[in-house]
Amino acid sequence: MKQILNFVNGEFVAGRADKLFRNINPVDGSLIGMVAEAGRTEVYAAVAAARAALNGPWGKLSLAQRVDLLYGVANGINKRFEDFVDAEIADTGKPRHLASHLDIPRGAANFKIFADVVKNVPNEFFEMTTPDNKTALNYALRRPKGVVAVICPWNLPLLLMTWKVGPALACGNTVVVKPSEETPSTATLLGEVMNEVGMPAGVYNVVHGFGPDSAGEFLTTHPGINAITFTGETRTGAAILKAASDGIKATSMELGGKNPAIVFADANLEAVMAGLKRSVFENSGQVCLGTERVYVERSVFDEVVRRLKLVAEELKPGLPNDHHTTLGPLISQEHRDKVLSFYRQAKEQGATIVTGGGIPTMPSDLAGGYWIEPTIWTGLPETSSVVQQEIFGPCCHVAAFDTEEEAINMANATPYGLAASVYTNDINRGHRVAARLEVGLCWVNSWFLRDLRTPFGGSKMSGIGREGGVHSLEFYTELRNVCVKLFD
Ligand code: NAD
Repeated sequence: MKQILNFVNGEFVAGRADKLFRNINPVDGSLIGMVAEAGRTEVYAAVAAARAALNGPWGKLSLAQRVDLLYGVANGINKRFEDFVDAEIADTGKPRHLASHLDIPRGAANFKIFADVVKNVPNEFFEMTTPDNKTALNYALRRPKGVVAVICPWNLPLLLMTWKVGPALACGNTVVVKPSEETPSTATLLGEVMNEVGMPAGVYNVVHGFGPDSAGEFLTTHPGINAITFTGETRTGAAILKAASDGIKATSMELGGKNPAIVFADANLEAVMAGLKRSVFENSGQVCLGTERVYVERSVFDEVVRRLKLVAEELKPGLPNDHHTTLGPLISQEHRDKVLSFYRQAKEQGATIVTGGGIPTMPSDLAGGYWIEPTIWTGLPETSSVVQQEIFGPCCHVAAFDTEEEAINMANATPYGLAASVYTNDINRGHRVAARLEVGLCWVNSWFLRDLRTPFGGSKMSGIGREGGVHSLEFYTELRNVCVKLFD
C-alpha cells in the first residue's frame, strides 16, 4: 500500500504518532494509499527548516542562481510528466487529457513564468534634492516576506499550489505547503523533484492533514509564519483571516465564486456553446472560475437551453484513461453529498430540470465512485439558494433577461465577485458590460483565457488581493525604502 509522507527539510517523514488518513480514488472509491498526518511537531519542524533555509543557503543565493533553480524545477516536473499526470488523475479522477493539457503543464510553467518576472522587474529609484540643497538617492529594495504558508484546495492541485509556490520562491521566500487532504500526491512528488534538482533543504516543505486541530491550523497560527496564501472556500478563508489577525500576518485570499455568463442575442451561438461546455462542465464543474448562472437574452433563451441540454447529454463519464471520457467524478463522497443537496433544493424550490438531477448509472466496477449527472435548471427565483450559493458541480441555472441593464443587475446580485463571461458580437457592449460587472476577471466571448502576467483574484466575498505577473510580487515581497544622502 502506497504511503504518502510529509516532506520536511528535504526528507520524507512520518506524521504524528504515525497517524494516517486515507487517500481515496474518486472513480471507484478504492483506497490508493495512506497519508501521514502532520502533527504540531512536524509542522513546527517544517517552519523551522524553512526559516533556517531562508537565513542559510537559500537566502545567500544570487537572483540568477535562484532563477536557474526555478527553471530546473520546471524541467524536473516535465521530465517526470507522466508520474505527475498519473498521481493527479489517481487523486482527482479527472480525465487524463485534462491533467496532461492543463494541470501538469501549468504546474511546470508556473516556476518558469515567475522566474522570468523577477528577473525583469525594475526597482523604484528617485534622485532627490534635500532641503540643504544636496542630493539623496532614494530607492526601494524588494526583500522576501519570509516563510510563507501555502494552503491549497483539491480541484487543480498542482496547478494552484505552484501558482503560489512559484512566485514565493522566485521572490526568495521559503514555503510550507499544506495540500488538500483529498489530493496529497503531486505536492509530495514535487518534493522528490526539489531534491533531484538540488533545491536546498528546507526551501520547500509539505505537511499533510486537515484544517482545524490539524496541520492547517498548526501552520496558520504558527508565530514563525510571515504570510499566508490561501485558495479555497470563502468560509475557510474567513477562519484563516481570524487566525492571521493574531500574528498580523500578510494574507492573500483566493476564494469561492458564483460566476455568471451573459449571452446576448447577437452572440455567435457556436462560440457560446463552446464556452459554456467548458465553463459549466470542465473538471466536473469543480473550477473556481466555472459558470453556475447563465443569463440569456429572451429571444434566444429557448435555443440556448436546447443546445446546452445537448452539450450536457453528450458528456461521457468514465475512467480517466479512456479517451472517450469527458466527465470525471466529483472529488469525494462528502462533496457529492453537498452537490446532491443542491440538486434536491432545486427540485423542492420548483425548478424545471432540463436534464440530469441525480446520479448516473455506472458499470459495477465504478459504482462506488462519486459520479453525478450534469444538470441544468430553469425557472428558479434569483433569490434561491441554488442561484445564490456556490455548488462546485457540473450544473447551472439558466434565466432569461430583456435588457442589458437587467442582465448586469442579475449578474451582480450575489455576494461573490470572482469571474464572469459575456457573449456578444457588439464590441461596444462587450467592453461596456465588462466594466460594470463586479468581478476580478471578465471574459468576452471566451472563458479561462489569460496572459499569466495579468492580475488574478476576486472581489467582494471571492477574495482579497491579486496574484499573477508583477502583482504576485506585491504579496511575496516586502519593500524596503533606502535613502542615501550624498555629501560633496
Ligand atoms: P476548503 O476551503 O475546504 O479547503 C482548502 C484548504 O484549506 C484545504 O487544504 C483544507 O485542509 C484547508 N483548511 C480547511 N480549514 C482550515 C483551517 N481552519 N485552517 C487552515 N487550513 C484549513 O476548499 P476546497 O473544498 O479544498 O476547495 C474548493 C473551494 O476552493 C471552492 O470554494 C472554490 O471556489 C475555491 N477555489 C477558489 C479559487 C480561486 O482562485 N479563487 C481557485 C480554486 C478553488
